[in-house]
Amino acid sequence: MRAKVQEWAEYSIGLVPTMGALHAGHRSLVERAGAENDMVVVSIFVNPIQFGPGEDLARYPRPIEDDLEMLRGMDVDAVYMPRVEDMYPPGATTRVLVGGVSEPLEGAARPGHFEGVATVVTKLFWAVEPDRAYFGQKDAQQVAVVKRLAADLDTGVEIVVCPIVREADGLAVSSRNVYLNPAERAAAASLSRALRTASESYQAGVRDEDALKELMRQVIGREPLARIEYAELVDPGNFSSPGTLAVLAVSFGGTRLIDNHDLAQPYPG
Ligand code: AMP
Repeated sequence: MRAKVQEWAEYSIGLVPTMGALHAGHRSLVERAGAENDMVVVSIFVNPIQFGPGEDLARYPRPIEDDLEMLRGMDVDAVYMPRVEDMYPPGATTRVLVGGVSEPLEGAARPGHFEGVATVVTKLFWAVEPDRAYFGQKDAQQVAVVKRLAADLDTGVEIVVCPIVREADGLAVSSRNVYLNPAERAAAASLSRALRTASESYQAGVRDEDALKELMRQVIGREPLARIEYAELVDPGNFSSPGTLAVLAVSFGGTRLIDNHDLAQPYPG
């Protein structure tokens, strides 16, 4: 990968890091990268160190032929698919730890997750040396962690954040949605309904944090299949002090979904 990008010294490079199982959300990142850079690199790597024990590493979907087929039809100059043993050969023990913003919420629910993310993103930045890297607002806390990392490690990489792509009923598109059975899939639309409801209340003038959180819990709580892990309002920069970013983590059976919306912005659509 480094040999290839060294041939591209005079060009700007946009990197889209993914774990594959590509969908409309990834597509939007690739399109944005294509519009803003001479060269586009998409990485596909199911990063084992960002999965906790008991998470879905083994069953994570890997439809590599479909992924390559989708990317062939797009403005993509290279697909980087490192092997696990090349990224983490025996004896590799270095990890990148982003303090503060990686600790609450997703960080607390998934110990080691953001360390795995920060480590692989750092390695991808070294391999590709992009001018810009594209991330989805879908993973809002990951965005905050990656922005912190990019600044703190003097990477010079501009972090570009792309809006959440949603299904017709509002469910945020995700590679993990394939795990949902039809009843869970229907119930999963409650996350976006909750965000919409809270956003409408906020837009109508409601500022009471507890009332807004309770509203989200009520909307999701109407679904018997939903188990709320958290429904919080946080500052999008640090994820710990209060703010207008509504963040949700909700499980349906064995599938854990996350979603978010900044209540200060009107809900789209
Ligand atoms: P993943 O392959 O799930 O690690 O996601 C790769 C990138 O795509 C991450 O930056 C995600 O935030 C982004 N992404 C995933 N789903 C969506 C979505 N529905 N809308 C926008 N971006 C997304």
